[in-house]
Amino acid sequence: MRLLYRKQSAIEASSLGGAWRAFFPWTCNPRRVFVGVVFIALHLLLDRATVVSHMSVGTDVWYPPAGLALALLMGLGVSYAPLIFVSGFLTSAINYLLPVLGGNIWYVNGVIAVWYGGVAIVLRRYFQVDGAFRSLQEVSRYIFVVLGSTLGLAFCGALSFLWSKQIRVNSYGSSVLNWWVGDSVALFCLTPFLLVHVMPWLRVQTTHSSSAIVRSPKPETDPWPRSPNPRVLFELFAQSAGILASLYIALGSRFSREYQLFYIFFLPVIWIAVRKGVRGATAATLLLNVGAILMLNSFPQEPNRLISLQVLMLVVSVTGLCLGTLITERNQADQELRESEGRRQALISTIDEVVFEFDVNGTYKNIWTADESLLARPKAELLGRRAAEFMAPEVIDPILRIFKRVLKTGLGESIEYSLSLPARKWFLARVTPIPSADGKPSAICMTARDITARKLAEEQLRTTSEAAEAASRAKSQFLANISHEIRTPMNGILGMTDLVLDTPVTPEQREYLEMVKVSGDSLMELLNAILDLSKIEAGKLDLEPIEFLLPLRLAETLKMMQFRARQKGLELSWHSATDVPELLIGDPMRLRQILVNLVGNAIKFTEHGEIVLDVQAQKISPESVELHFRVQDSGIGIADDKQAMIFEAFTQADSSTTRKYGGTGLGLAITSRLVDLMGGRIWVESVPGRGSTFHFTATFGLPRGDTAVVTSWQHSGGAL
Ligand code: ADP
Repeated sequence: MRLLYRKQSAIEASSLGGAWRAFFPWTCNPRRVFVGVVFIALHLLLDRATVVSHMSVGTDVWYPPAGLALALLMGLGVSYAPLIFVSGFLTSAINYLLPVLGGNIWYVNGVIAVWYGGVAIVLRRYFQVDGAFRSLQEVSRYIFVVLGSTLGLAFCGALSFLWSKQIRVNSYGSSVLNWWVGDSVALFCLTPFLLVHVMPWLRVQTTHSSSAIVRSPKPETDPWPRSPNPRVLFELFAQSAGILASLYIALGSRFSREYQLFYIFFLPVIWIAVRKGVRGATAATLLLNVGAILMLNSFPQEPNRLISLQVLMLVVSVTGLCLGTLITERNQADQELRESEGRRQALISTIDEVVFEFDVNGTYKNIWTADESLLARPKAELLGRRAAEFMAPEVIDPILRIFKRVLKTGLGESIEYSLSLPARKWFLARVTPIPSADGKPSAICMTARDITARKLAEEQLRTTSEAAEAASRAKSQFLANISHEIRTPMNGILGMTDLVLDTPVTPEQREYLEMVKVSGDSLMELLNAILDLSKIEAGKLDLEPIEFLLPLRLAETLKMMQFRARQKGLELSWHSATDVPELLIGDPMRLRQILVNLVGNAIKFTEHGEIVLDVQAQKISPESVELHFRVQDSGIGIADDKQAMIFEAFTQADSSTTRKYGGTGLGLAITSRLVDLMGGRIWVESVPGRGSTFHFTATFGLPRGDTAVVTSWQHSGGAL
């Protein structure tokens, strides 16, 4: 922005009259020109008034034009510095009759303009003092810079008195002191008043650009509202009367001649500062200073009393400014606190949770809630009492234990608890520590959410699923019973059929009886499968681990299957890796069942090609081995979306396959349960039309000292 401004200034400077506008940028705006003119007039007047009062009082208690100049530079920007020079120049020429061509007039006014311009820049840019006097830090920086800079200016400025021979060398020191204190009083009294009361308004009027950005003070409660109520009016009247009374007592009364009563000025200033903050304090000190000058005109004082009055006015102005700022700062903090409390209340009423603050002993310190019916007792009854007084030990004890843990670890925790309010309600509480000023947790924040609805739904779900499980168990039991009951007559039918087949029968009768036998066998197979599945689901199927020779069992099983494969013109081969131990501990019957299912399916769903069984050792330890079995076929394959569901009971990849290949959809369900029992897992990889590979893993125990058995097996010549 500043760059832009400079660029703009440069362009303007190149045009006709640009040099003038670059030097006096404020002259582009008629309102600012008006402000400039008023400033020059005020400067002349205030200086004239100071000269007049100097003549009647005997000294300058303060020098208001200095305060006016700094307020203008800080409030509207340093671009007004040339105006300070111009008004100073005119004042020197008109009020002090300094020759306009003499070096002195140029020197003293140049120094003053540059000096105050520098002070305004230092304050605003380097010390971030914007003139709103909202913090004590801002005021301290202001005091520090003003006292230092006015002393420097007094040293340089008083040289002009020597130059113009207004003073002698030996009175240079007192002249410096007088200049310093007089300027300082004005800068602590008039400048803050103008910056707080006048400049924000003036800035709006002149719509000043960024070169004079001054944050307008946050609107605090107006100490003098537009339509004040009688109490405020009365207080205002009393405060003004207080100032006048103190002025009279300290400067005009009979006692003032006998005693030094200037300290009485502190009373109204403190009163007003405390009640009205910085706005009141700046107005009060200004009124006091103006009043003091007017009083001095009517009640002249001795020179030494004048010096102490001057110093006292400085101290009163600084005190008023500091105190007023302090109060404003506190009021603002209070206001912010109230606002943040309001925001917190609004937040809590929208989040639908109860928020508690507990001390380390579990005493309620604060409660925020939009619904008091969620509390064990009304809020007013709980505050200041211990939670243990209102909750049963089995509810509060775990909560208090969490409080202790949270205070120790500093980490939040959650807990669920229920209360009878009087209806039973469930809450989910989140407990977090609240750190104190030294960083250690000294209190607890607990938020509690009403989860009764969720709890009821969960309970209902649990009851429903328990009922469903019971029904499913009953169904399995029923199936098991039925299957068992059917198996007995079926055995009779099959046995009798065998017996009849052994007797001489006609070929036609034999054909019929063999059909009875085949149908009976498949019915038995189905019954066995149902029985197995219901046993597994009822958790009643246990493995019977024994020592067995894996190659022998594989050979037995697969040779039997090989017959069926050859009937379909398929090649069935099997292969076991060399590191697969031969002697294992496990249930060979159930392993056989798994292999019969998988290889049986492979044969069933393959028309051409081959079926391969491959066994590998995956993890071997001295006690056990995990084997990985793979049954690969070149059959019809299984679509991706069906691959997971074929392991469920009674499901088949495609209903058309049932019609073509038959089956019940139980084989893989039983197989996968058996694999589970063997501590393994089963999965399938398949490409429709190209074939499937079923994988499963199973863990078997390893016997100690198995060498003798293995050797005897190998010697029997049955190796794969
Ligand atoms: P089913 O008695 O129907 O064979 P399974 O549980 O053994 O019952 O198999 C379930 C379904 O999985 C089968 O109906 C079939 O659709 C599919 N399936 C199983 N094995 C294979 C395979 N080797 N190739 C193609 N589909 C298979």
